Amino acid sequence: MISLPEEFLERMKGELGAEYEDFLQSYATPAVKGVRANTLKITPEEFEKIAPVALVGKTDWEESGFYAKGDGLGKTVLHAAGLYYVQEPSAMCAVPELEIKRGERVLDLCAAPGGKSTQIAQYMKGTGMLVANEIDFKRYGVLKSNIERCGVRNAAVTCQSPENLAAYYKNYFDKILVDAPCSGEGMFKKEEAALREWSLKTVLSCAARQAKILESANTMLAGGGRLVYSTCTFAPEEDERQIENFLKLHSEYTLIKMKKLLPHRVKGEGHFFAVLEKAAGERAADFSLKDIKPNDKKEFEEFKQGVINAEFKNIVKLGESVYSLVDNFPAELKAGVKLGEIKNGRFEPAHSLAACLNPNEANGLEVNEETALKYLRGLTFDCADANGWRVVTYKGYPLGWCKIVNGVAKNHFPKGLRI
Ligand code: SAM
Repeated sequence: MISLPEEFLERMKGELGAEYEDFLQSYATPAVKGVRANTLKITPEEFEKIAPVALVGKTDWEESGFYAKGDGLGKTVLHAAGLYYVQEPSAMCAVPELEIKRGERVLDLCAAPGGKSTQIAQYMKGTGMLVANEIDFKRYGVLKSNIERCGVRNAAVTCQSPENLAAYYKNYFDKILVDAPCSGEGMFKKEEAALREWSLKTVLSCAARQAKILESANTMLAGGGRLVYSTCTFAPEEDERQIENFLKLHSEYTLIKMKKLLPHRVKGEGHFFAVLEKAAGERAADFSLKDIKPNDKKEFEEFKQGVINAEFKNIVKLGESVYSLVDNFPAELKAGVKLGEIKNGRFEPAHSLAACLNPNEANGLEVNEETALKYLRGLTFDCADANGWRVVTYKGYPLGWCKIVNGVAKNHFPKGLRI
């Protein structure tokens, strides 16, 4: 059993009373694991049939969420194909509370590495627009690649402080998720750093930071909008009291629901969420998408012939890069999918283009598991097909690009993603 800080245990005893012993006992078992079928690419039922990892039941709160067993959950070919996301089961509880509807503007303010953003994208079903924001540049890179791997076509991934973002998007979003940086008490089994860095001082400094983040979220939420606040900690200062304080400052909000997932009561680690609704009021107008020129899609349309069979809207060339952008959003935010780049007058496809294709949208080069693994490791393989770009597929699911040159499939799977 892991050794827990004395002060933390005293606080939990005070909070839980008679339940404390059961809570303590929950640390005798290893952390619960989970995966979420990516419904942008596969239904939960189909995923259950072909899952490359051992599934051991479904979560009560997320219809695409499964409990899973074993190691290396994220080291399979179907993971690289974006068919599922490895996510702690309790962490799947907050996003369904956003009650996302078609066409909404949604912000995930503290988004890396992207578990909840990719879950939000599933509920958006390719409609509306998602801003997935992360303040930390390194983590922003991971977020971007997870959004890409999961084939999300309607997101802008940004790297901003909440204050900077708030200056841009006043009263704009219909739904906002604040999955706040916290003291991580609910993750002690999984994250050694949270355990090592825990102190009451950390709890209080997290609470102060969260209060600031919530203020920015308030600025960005449209009248009538919904705000879901979540943490993976038990500390009341970061959870219930944080919400009480916010409500004292903002009488225009109503608390709809508040819930704490405790590891001795649910099958999962610790999590907290609160659902707040803002009174009716201003909702900012759409931005306008300018910059679309009729000839911007020329090279892409030529490239597509015989290679992919998918339609993309709002095709825009920004510098040498070609994007398909979401409606009603300024082009410079690049909200959408990067399709590729023009190099020496020729179109070179981006990995994000392959990653967002459904099986019937690619003239795929189907490979077996052995070759797929070779491909994901960055190796070339023999291929007798005609020269040119092809999407490598496994069980029909796109993995990335290769370029066939005289009997050899040259590897274009991004270096940073190789397994
Ligand atoms: N929602 C993510 C997911 O499901 O994968 C997990 C988010 S994690 C709990 C909190 C994130 O907040 C971290 O990525 C962290 O870098 C970021 N963060 C740290 N300080 C912040 C701040 N002052 N404002 C906004 N975000 C911050």
